[in-house]
Amino acid sequence: MPVPWLAIEVIPTCGFPYARISHRRIWKIRARFARPTVGGVSCKPLNQQAKCLDGGEPRPMKVVVCHSGGLDSSVCVIRALNQGHELLSLGFNYGQRARIELRYAKNLCDRFGVERKVFRVPRWSRPPRETHRDRDIEEIRQRPSRGFLPGRNAIFMCLAVTEAIGRDADEVWLGLNCIDSPGYPDCQPAFVEAFERMMTVGTDHPIAIRAPLMDLSKPNIAAEAREYGLTRDDVWSCYRPRRKRGGSYERCNSCDGCGVSNHAWEMIV
Ligand SMILES: [Zn+2]
Repeated sequence: MPVPWLAIEVIPTCGFPYARISHRRIWKIRARFARPTVGGVSCKPLNQQAKCLDGGEPRPMKVVVCHSGGLDSSVCVIRALNQGHELLSLGFNYGQRARIELRYAKNLCDRFGVERKVFRVPRWSRPPRETHRDRDIEEIRQRPSRGFLPGRNAIFMCLAVTEAIGRDADEVWLGLNCIDSPGYPDCQPAFVEAFERMMTVGTDHPIAIRAPLMDLSKPNIAAEAREYGLTRDDVWSCYRPRRKRGGSYERCNSCDGCGVSNHAWEMIV
């Protein structure tokens, strides 16, 4: 009979030390300590994995990544893959105007051999206002888009946690980023931490919620994408895609999504 392994994971982060002891995934104990922050951001880098006490190979995790097909979530997928994790790319079809992003997510998964699943979510009542156009990067940072859907991320995260528990996964990853989205309340570290606490209380199978890009700027995220061999044409960031003859789409180059994306790729040094 194989001897059950005992692994201990200690992740010193810029947010707080995070410790987990696993015993064949039967039980998990998390010890959390005071949370100093860096630049007001509490984040949890994921560049360290569990190591067996006997010096064995690091333990790959099972990770569910919420993957829209945009820059941030696509980088999360490749980073997880790069770190050797077993992962599921999870998408959501909620009647979004930019449904073309789902095709980009699938193409990325096909290219890198990642399992993909898409949940169909009932259509939101769309915000009655048109999305902004031609805002500069500072305006975008200061005020959310008119297309912001309150509660959308929370619903997606609930579904992702449910899927993760069903798969006995260890973590859910999100491509949230607060540096270039300070006006979005559900892209902040406080929201992610509160959500994780809620799910810990509300389930008997706690799942760690991670936002590994939380404290990165968009140009830094684009730079990481480029390190993985991705280009602007491998991800979709436009909120107002224009359909061309033949069924293909082009970016509008005036919405907030295009503004942030253009800024990110152009600022790569
Ligand atoms: Zn656009």
